Amino acid sequence: MATFPLAPGSAIGVIGGGQLGRMLALAAAELGFDVVVLEPDKGCPAGRVAARTIAAPYDDPEALARLAKACAVVTYEFENVPAAAVARLTALGADVAPGARALAVAQDRLEEKTFLNAHGAPTVAFAPAATPDEAVEAVAHVGAPALMKTRREGYDGKGQRWVEHAADAAAAFAALGGVPVIVEAACPFVRELSVIAARGRDGATSVYPLAENHHEHGILRRSIAPAHVATATAEQAERIAARVLGGLDYVGVVGIELFELADGQLLVNEFAPRVHNTGHWTQDGCEVSQFEQHIRAVAGWPLGPTHAVAHVEMLNLLGDEALGWARLAAEPETRVHLYGKREAKPGRKMGHVNRVRPL
Ligand code: AMP
Repeated sequence: MATFPLAPGSAIGVIGGGQLGRMLALAAAELGFDVVVLEPDKGCPAGRVAARTIAAPYDDPEALARLAKACAVVTYEFENVPAAAVARLTALGADVAPGARALAVAQDRLEEKTFLNAHGAPTVAFAPAATPDEAVEAVAHVGAPALMKTRREGYDGKGQRWVEHAADAAAAFAALGGVPVIVEAACPFVRELSVIAARGRDGATSVYPLAENHHEHGILRRSIAPAHVATATAEQAERIAARVLGGLDYVGVVGIELFELADGQLLVNEFAPRVHNTGHWTQDGCEVSQFEQHIRAVAGWPLGPTHAVAHVEMLNLLGDEALGWARLAAEPETRVHLYGKREAKPGRKMGHVNRVRPL
């Protein structure tokens, strides 16, 4: 059983060994913690900066037992952690943060939107479907064009299809694999924004300034922060964050993706129960980054300040773009963050840069 605040020298478990795990491990090390990564790929980005890697599948019972023995607190860098793994860790006495409920809600788009609406966080209209007939009905209900998304396991624009007419709904349902889906009304947004927020073990919350996000082919390309937004919009984002965090009795950092309508109103697209790509700007734009904030929260430390100390343009380096590191490193306003991935596949997130301007 963990005693909070967790003392430096303790170990924190991280499920998942990608770039988010790597940056969490770096932040944890700065606060004196050791990170133990659970990830099947031994040479993963996080494993190469962590104190230890347990190279095994996320649901391997023996690996989970080793993780629970080594770490009183376990967190994760992706939302598709198997529920059974979390249950097992908890049964073994490890504290998993964010908790099982946050994961369960975030893993299912229907649960997520239902939770959001029930807690006063507005979304587009939506309807679930589990059969071709229900898919047709759902599109008729929310109105075409509509966006059909698999309830589970979609990311970076995968697992979704636009449906232009209700008559196309059954074909779209089949193309998505015939799995349960959610059909969403098309959102007439003017901008995509996001808010990164955190809740500590004492229930204290903190919210970073909003980021404005630009995607290409479903992948985040660029974030600009702090975004220029009306005061009422920023306040609405803070209210939404407080409702999500409070409603889930949350511990850790959450990334909430928002649609801004022409009148400045916000709708929630989705939230990720983890540090988020649209929060990478905080590494160079804030005194305490989202990664340190997450470690502080799960370790039961006080949350750090979240105000901006600089303007930041965050650019993801996809595929071969990371080969430009020497040129980027020569730009005085540019902070380079590389993930140590060995193979630069097209579209793969290899690193990012934060271009920093004084406030
Ligand atoms: P998601 O996988 O839910 O994050 O969606 C990926 C991207 O699809 C978002 O960043 C938006 O650009 C777009 N998108 C998602 N849902 C909607 C919607 N209901 N209406 C319009 N665009 C959407």
